[in-house]
Amino acid sequence: MVKSIILERKKFEWRIPNLIERSKLSEHKFEKGKLITPFNQQFQGLLKEESWYYRRMPEYVWLGLIVNSGERNAKLEKCLRIMNCLHELESDEGKEIILPRMSLVFSLSNEKQKVFYNLLDELQVIESLGPLSLVFQNQSPEFLQSIKGYNSSIQKRIKQLNIILKELSDQHSNLSTDIRFLIVYKYMLSGKLQVLDNSIFPEIISRYPYISHDEPEMQLYRPNIRTLEMGISTSFPKNFKFVSDFWKRVSLLTDCEVFYVNTETTKDESIDLKKYKQHVYDILNYYSKLLIETRPLDNRFLVLLGIATYSYKRLIELVDHNLEYTISGRSIMRSIIENYMMTKYLLLEEPNHDDIWREYQDYGIGQYKLIYGRYADDQPTIEGGHVPFEYINLLVSEFKNEEFIDIDTSYFGLGNIRSKFKKVNEEDLWKYYYDYDSIFEHGLWGAIRESSILKCSASGHQYHGIPDIDNFQKLSSVAHDCVMIMNKHLKLLEDQYNLPEIFQEENQNE
Ligand SMILES: [Zn+2]
Repeated sequence: MVKSIILERKKFEWRIPNLIERSKLSEHKFEKGKLITPFNQQFQGLLKEESWYYRRMPEYVWLGLIVNSGERNAKLEKCLRIMNCLHELESDEGKEIILPRMSLVFSLSNEKQKVFYNLLDELQVIESLGPLSLVFQNQSPEFLQSIKGYNSSIQKRIKQLNIILKELSDQHSNLSTDIRFLIVYKYMLSGKLQVLDNSIFPEIISRYPYISHDEPEMQLYRPNIRTLEMGISTSFPKNFKFVSDFWKRVSLLTDCEVFYVNTETTKDESIDLKKYKQHVYDILNYYSKLLIETRPLDNRFLVLLGIATYSYKRLIELVDHNLEYTISGRSIMRSIIENYMMTKYLLLEEPNHDDIWREYQDYGIGQYKLIYGRYADDQPTIEGGHVPFEYINLLVSEFKNEEFIDIDTSYFGLGNIRSKFKKVNEEDLWKYYYDYDSIFEHGLWGAIRESSILKCSASGHQYHGIPDIDNFQKLSSVAHDCVMIMNKHLKLLEDQYNLPEIFQEENQNE
């Protein structure tokens, strides 16, 4: 079952919460072709992103189950006793259990584990660990033995596990913070925590477990606890095998909950593209007649109209094949933007050239000559290909002997495409539209992720991706932007060749 979720500008549940303030691009440092974030500039190699949920929480989920199984303060008090017990168990064997990790409990001798589980039994909290029998199946026979009498149905245990994982997936939740307090507390028992007497920590340690989360001072305590816990935890090596086994088991226990993001425009926002296509047709039809009937040999007009017609043909594809919400829609968008920019560029540069229109045509035909030239030189055997080499060759020599046509391997008119957008005062189009569409055209991962990968939101599945082969994911509509660019393009033609009022009225009615 695949769900759709509405895209809103609220915090997405599946993404990594933003702990560090967003830095501006201008604050990034350009180094060997990369923009390095200010954070990485300072801490490169020192700090690896450290995830509470994926990396640390599996070791402590047992504490979450206990705290969550009844009245919070009562359960926390019991947990303090459990921490003290763990501390004693560690000290008489020479084995240090500095943090209350489940993998460390499992590493204790059978006798010690028995003592430990007996305490849990005595405190009447062992029953709440029932769901863990599904996850920790091979680690400790003593553990399984101890919780054996308390097993409820598998369905019920899975449900309990899901509830707790959801709660712990937020590293700032009250329950997560309670666990993190217990980690700090256990660390302190081991005598490792060095705090100054005048710091706030002695107060936090002595008060935190006995007051409610609603007390005002908790607003100060909680972030302090989390910061301290992170500092402590990152300095200890992790048991990666234990953690990854945990996630493997959890993901096998529950089904995927696949979802896609719904960005479709609502009915009242949508644009009648069929009507718009007709409007563009009417205008281009007028200009075409003007060209044919009054100045059939006007090459400038032909080039300008040719580019606009190319954009119009892409608009036809968009409308007739309903590509508004597709990857192809973005390809069309990019093409229309570039055509508009190039038209504006040619008009701007016209006074600086003898015949920029001919140059523009020669440049394009030169590219065709290059394509055919490779084919003619190598004579490869290509069957059923879509490139009509012989026809291309005909086009190359349509008006000029090919020996007079140079091949310019740089982008037309020198300079890269961004500089052209800049030159015609449309850099924003490059920045906020064209470059995004290019990512789709090149199939870079951002585009692949947005268009072709679904997500699973089942708690415990770590928000893994699923290839969208059934095509659930639609992209946001390009209709509005296509119309905006096409109108700008038509305005360029109007400035050159005027447009009878009847079309302009139609324009206003849009
Ligand atoms: Zn899944």
